[in-house]
Amino acid sequence: MSRVAYVNGRYVPHSQAAVHIEDRGYQFADGVYEVCEILKGQIVDLTAHLDRLDRSLDELSIRHPMTRVAFVTVMKEVVARNRVRDGLLYIQVTRGVARRDHVFPGPEVAPSVIMSAKSVSIEKGLKAAEKGMSVITTPENRWDRVDIKTVGLLPNVLAKQKAKEAGAKEAWFVDKDGYVTEGGSTNAWIVLNDGKLVTRPADHGILRGITRSVVMKLAEKHGISVEERAFTVEESKSAREAFVTSASLVVMPVVKIDDQVIGDGTPGPVAIELRKTFHEAAELIKLTAA
Ligand code: PMP
Repeated sequence: MSRVAYVNGRYVPHSQAAVHIEDRGYQFADGVYEVCEILKGQIVDLTAHLDRLDRSLDELSIRHPMTRVAFVTVMKEVVARNRVRDGLLYIQVTRGVARRDHVFPGPEVAPSVIMSAKSVSIEKGLKAAEKGMSVITTPENRWDRVDIKTVGLLPNVLAKQKAKEAGAKEAWFVDKDGYVTEGGSTNAWIVLNDGKLVTRPADHGILRGITRSVVMKLAEKHGISVEERAFTVEESKSAREAFVTSASLVVMPVVKIDDQVIGDGTPGPVAIELRKTFHEAAELIKLTAA
């Protein structure tokens, strides 16, 4: 089945979907994005993702390209046209196309909007979660506004490539005081020996993950307490469990940090349970016509 993308008001074959060379996303990383999970034909946590997109746009003074109703209509259309039942929906908004100049273009320049969707195998995710994944640690080298979900992801790209070359799946950034901030594309968590969850507060040092927020709600439902505080690499290496969260990985157990095996080297029961029950606490929006 051929894929379809949305590009500035049109649905086009994915292979021909293109933006102008002077799109500010392309030249300056002057844009923001969202990734939503699609599960059984439903968009997961749609409201939270659109709220965060609005916030990212506001923080960068990028005009909102369309109303929320229009956004939801296009999102559903892109998922439907790609016949995605389980997978991911990608949304990107940039400041638009203008003659290259660092300062913002005038109000006549409309933001660019693109969306695409792809199927992802649920089976593969399950298999990966049964095994758990390894992470490496790497010095934090990003700017101090990573709470804004911008397409400026070069440090994340380099960190994740470094992880791959070390045989790991994710890199955890570590600040100058030795505390873990977050992963290249995930939020980081540990489970203490007393069963408490620990994750870094969502200040400007990390992205406030939607999955992170849902896991916090879910933990409360399960009677598990969550401490929002920074934790060091040392603490994570002696934790009972570790895991990461993101829309694409949901809850993914971490079984190794650098050379340190976590617990007995297999996914821990807390991470497994949170993964299994995650969607009970998430918002699920059906794809039926808007
Ligand atoms: N941190 C970073 C740097 C990310 O790129 C992501 C994934 N978008 C996350 C955390 C997790 O966020 P979410 O749960 O909203 O996918």
